[in-house]
This record gives sequence, C-alpha cells and structure tokens, in this order.
Amino acid sequence: MSGFVFSQKPIELVGGEGVHLLDADGTRYLDFGASYACVPLGHADPAIASVVAEQLARLSYAHGSYPVPSRKAAIDRLASHAPPGLGNVWLCNSGAEAVEAAIKFARSATGASTLVAAMRGFHGRTMGALSVTWRPEHRAGFGPLLEDVEFVPYGDPEALEAAVDDDTAAVILEPIQGEGGVHPATASYLQVAREATEEVDAALVLDEIQTGLGRTGDRWGHEAAGIAPDVVTLAKGLANGLPIGATLVADWIAADAGRHGSTFAGTPPVAAACSTTLEQLEARDLAARATRVGDYLRDRLEAAIDDGDLAAREVRGRGLLVGVELKHDAAPVLRSLALEHNILALSAGRTVVRLLPPLTVEEGHVDELLAGLVEVGA
Ligand SMILES: *Cc1c(COP(=O)(O)O)cnc(C)c1O
Repeated sequence: MSGFVFSQKPIELVGGEGVHLLDADGTRYLDFGASYACVPLGHADPAIASVVAEQLARLSYAHGSYPVPSRKAAIDRLASHAPPGLGNVWLCNSGAEAVEAAIKFARSATGASTLVAAMRGFHGRTMGALSVTWRPEHRAGFGPLLEDVEFVPYGDPEALEAAVDDDTAAVILEPIQGEGGVHPATASYLQVAREATEEVDAALVLDEIQTGLGRTGDRWGHEAAGIAPDVVTLAKGLANGLPIGATLVADWIAADAGRHGSTFAGTPPVAAACSTTLEQLEARDLAARATRVGDYLRDRLEAAIDDGDLAAREVRGRGLLVGVELKHDAAPVLRSLALEHNILALSAGRTVVRLLPPLTVEEGHVDELLAGLVEVGA
C-alpha cells in the first residue's frame, strides 16, 4: 500500500508532533491518513509518553491472571465507556485478534457456526478474521479458511435477512466500511441486522476498529442507528498508537471468555496508554471536533467538486472518516500530495482517497489539504 511513495522517495519517518510527521531529511508532513486512525490524540502525545514511561519504569509486564492497577483501571474505563450492556472487556493486542475473539465467543455462546459477513468488508488478516474479510487479494493462497462463512452485499437488508438462520453464530459488520472504500451503513440496515440476529439468537458483532472512539462524531459508529449490538471490536486508536485490541461483549456472550487468552493483553504501559487515551478523548471533546472539522472537510470537498476544481464523483463518510471517490486512480494523487505538498493520505480501493487524520486536526489543516488536492489536479 505504501509502495506508492517508497517506489519514488522513501519517506523515512523519524518523528511526530500532533498532526505532523517528520522524515529523516527534516521535512514535515501533514498526516491525513499515514497513521491509519491509530493516533486520535496526535503523534507523540506528551500525556501518553509520560504515563507509558512511568509504567515501563515501574512494572513493564505482569500476566493477565494477576490483578494489576493499570490494567484494572483500563478495563474499568473501557467498561464505563462501552455501549450499554457491553461492559465485559476482553483485551488483546490488535484488531485481528479482537475479531478472532469475537468469532470464538459468538460460536461458543450460540453453539452455531455460520458467520455472515459483508462483501467489501475488512476485519483483519489472521485466519479467522481473514475468513470474514472479503477482498480476494487478501485471501488468495491462504485457504482453506474457516468454513461456514457467507458473504452478503453490504447495505442490502433483504440479502442479510435471507442469509441469517438458525445456523448463524454471528453477523459481523463495520458501521462504515473503511478499507472497502468508506461506505456508511444506513441506520435502517443496522436495525435490520439487529432484528434478524435477535430472531435466531445469533450475535450481532460490530467491528468499530476504525469507526469507534469518536472518529465519526459519535462515540460509536453505530450510535445513530439506535441499536444495541452484542459484541463490539476495538483496536487502532485505543492506546494512541500502542498495540492494543479489545472485544466488548454482552453478558450472554461472555461466559466462555475465560477460555481464550493472550500473553501480552493489557500490559501496564499499554493499559495506561489506553486509559489516558479514553480520558483525553473525553476531556478534549474530540468527538465534537470530529463532527465540526469533518463537516468542514466534507463541505470544502463538495464545494471544490461543484466548482469543477476536483474531479470526484462523491464524498462519503462521517466525522473524520472521509472517502473521496475520484473519477480516476487515487495512487498518482496520493503520490503527488505526499511528494509535492507534504500531505500524507490513504487509498481505499483504486479510486478512493481516504482521509482519517488525528482527531486534533483543525480547519486550517483542511484548507492546506484542499489546496494540495486542487493543485495536484485530483
Ligand atoms: C484495521 C482494521 C482491522 C484489523 O486490525 P489489525 O490491528 O490490523 O489487525 C479490522 N477491522 C477493521 C474495521 C479495521 O479497520
């Protein structure tokens, strides 16, 4: 994915500060996606740096079978932060691992095996998570993957209803498909997913690894749908750049959680980073900022399209998870943005420029991005 830059100029990142990254030549880059939603508070956040250093100096590791104050604090904070009814917190080290846990817990709690997932969906690259991930480029050559996985077109309620039956252990969906091109689900689609799973006692698993923690302007990407899922998976920005994942589960799913474990889950430095991230997201009201700056970003993009300054078909997404569907390939645009304007963004499929900056980004940074996009002839 990053080959688009490295094939022309290596951008060797040696430092970060807020929404900027620094390369080995001393060039400053504006980060509209290089951090993949992993640093909501910005790069090298001083509060994170200090709590991590403190924990490292005090106790760098203790197995999960021992109570440790920093881990307990992170679990408590996550539980109080969790969607209603999902206060059972299972920690791990990555998004894929959080999805693996969701699959195992759903299968053991329901006694059923079939997993219903969405076309274009992305849930990670380990064998279980890959089995519910759609793109052939990710899957090819690694089979056989998990049996009993059924893919349905994302956003089609009838197809989803038809796929869910007594053999269904879980339906797994992203509230907004991120890697798949930034496609938001409608509220009614998520409501149908809730009703269909409830009817057959299957688990509704929402993968909030990219959409959670305020990025969409709500704390959770599914919040506007007014539904209560059985499982939510988290990772990416949850410890502002340190490796972490979490699976939040309802009581009826939690029974077998004790039979699944991970050696490095919730180590003191990572747990402290997690607590501080959650605390800072609230204290700085970064979800509100995501709404404000995200709305501004979409308005500016749409105005540029209307004025003929941007050759794009559509702007999608919510808050600071934004996709711009270009009328041509995204790769040359991303390359020029990086090399000529020192702005780093992402793709999501061939023609989509994906923007997911730290939640601390400001309107002035959006202006910089827009100027760059227009100038590179996007
Ligand atoms: C990134 C991502 C994952 C996988 O997370 P890893 O930490 O890379 O394993 C899973 N689901 C979604 C929605 C993601 O964006």
